[in-house]
Amino acid sequence: MLLLLLFVNSSNAQTNTGIYLSQYQYSANTSKLALVKSQDGIELQKLTLSGPDAALFSIDKKNMLSIKPAARKANRPLQIELTAVTSSGSRKQQFTILKDAFIRNKVIAHRGAWKNTGATENSIASLNYALQIGCEGSEFDVHMSSDSVLFINHDPIIQGMKIEETPSATLKALKLANGETLPTLNQYLSEGMKQQKTRLVLEIKASVISKERGIALSHKVLDLVNEMHAEAWVDYISFDYEICKELIKLAPYAKVSYLNGDKSPAELAADHFYGLDYNLKVLQNHPSWIKEAKANNLHVNVWTVNEDQDMDFFLKEGADVITTNEPELLLKKLNK
Ligand code: MG
Repeated sequence: MLLLLLFVNSSNAQTNTGIYLSQYQYSANTSKLALVKSQDGIELQKLTLSGPDAALFSIDKKNMLSIKPAARKANRPLQIELTAVTSSGSRKQQFTILKDAFIRNKVIAHRGAWKNTGATENSIASLNYALQIGCEGSEFDVHMSSDSVLFINHDPIIQGMKIEETPSATLKALKLANGETLPTLNQYLSEGMKQQKTRLVLEIKASVISKERGIALSHKVLDLVNEMHAEAWVDYISFDYEICKELIKLAPYAKVSYLNGDKSPAELAADHFYGLDYNLKVLQNHPSWIKEAKANNLHVNVWTVNEDQDMDFFLKEGADVITTNEPELLLKKLNK
């Protein structure tokens, strides 16, 4: 029984007994990369590096992971393993670390780039179009099947089936309008991780069934991102404040922004959010919030901005990024 318990704990690294990095990206001019921390606060001693790219890194007594100058030129994902000794045994975990070469052009494609491409929204094709046209980020929505598999779709119902009440085998057989099968989160992340220019903006949908199921979905998402080593690519958004707070608690490195518009920038900052991602009407009704967000070091995203004059307004107001169904129009405007 004890052995079984230990096995369950060690396999569920993300949610309780893992080790994590305070960040998963490095820039061309930093050597200090991240602090290595434990999920449950236990002291990590004698950290050692191994894995294919271990020689490119070093770690000091304060658990600061640094990258060697020569390695900063690398444009591929770097793979390391960290082993720590703790008072309750050793822990070992693999990490993928990425150079921050992500595009910074403010354009977030809402459900991928679908409107002007003929791709179905939230399909792999819509993601690939967003990558091709060079968006800073591509947004997509995640739900969980009855047997806890994660699928990409906007609505909680697809082709008459409630995703949360349908088994994954049935959902995997569904065909989208463009002929693709309904993508799983695994497939979506695998596609997005083939490149290193466009961030993957992952919206966790609240459960229609219960609050608890929404929290379970957020755990599943974090576990999969952790298992796939996708941390460096993924940003998180949700309308559900409890889901956001759970993400921040379990993954303090994660960039989590709130969608629902009913919290002030100061409230979000107090709860350690990365940013706000509010409807354009909310930000127009609270003209001071963009400035307040910046004063609180919060990242500002706004949705869904499809009209030319609204794009101009939020560019002038200093939004960090703009989520739009018209990424081509915003890109054209920014490239003028
Ligand atoms: Mg969404």
